[in-house]
Amino acid sequence: MPATILVVEDEPAIQELISAALQHAGHRVMRAYSAEEAVPLVNGTLPDVVLLDWMLPGMSGIQFARRLRGEERTRELPIIMLTARGEEQDKVSGLDAGADDYLTKPFSPRELVARIKAVLRRRAPQMTEDCVEVEGLRVDPVTHRVTGNGRQLELGPTEFRLLHFFMTHQERVFNRTMLLDQVWGDHVFVEERTVDVHIRRLRAVLESTGHDGLIQTVRGSGYRFSVLPG
Ligand code: CA
Repeated sequence: MPATILVVEDEPAIQELISAALQHAGHRVMRAYSAEEAVPLVNGTLPDVVLLDWMLPGMSGIQFARRLRGEERTRELPIIMLTARGEEQDKVSGLDAGADDYLTKPFSPRELVARIKAVLRRRAPQMTEDCVEVEGLRVDPVTHRVTGNGRQLELGPTEFRLLHFFMTHQERVFNRTMLLDQVWGDHVFVEERTVDVHIRRLRAVLESTGHDGLIQTVRGSGYRFSVLPG
């Protein structure tokens, strides 16, 4: 499950080591030497996980974690704090500030990759490789196959990601900006109405097996995947 990971670490050697390990594991890496440098990166592309060093020049890791938690767009972004050995108080404060996990330096690349996988599984179910099935509609993220009542459905790559995201985040309303962040990722040049176009295509395919009603339009807000009547 390749993810986009933002590494905020001011020590070049450690940043390089972490980035190399993540790339080796198949992840995409965005890098920043400070929280100030990380802000515009996050504004451009919403990462799947943030690896955040505690001690940074300028805004500290803790302050940046609080800031991410305080904004709607980044509220649920998984954060792993990196701390130096023995700073037990840091871990407590880090978790208080909203970090999902912490890693004590020095750590092995293997441990890093395992922690990222665990956090993604918890916080971002659409990143895992488990099949999802709802009322006979089944999505397999490994083979990219979608079936409705056992019948194969042909979806484009964007419709596939959209459906998988919805099915792993049921009963919640997402506006177009949130969907662009979560499904498109880097969407600086994508217009919001693009979302409507792909929703329409997705519904058209789901209609053949009677699953189109699962994608509901919530007037004035966005879209929701729900088994309950809209
Ligand atoms: Ca540091």
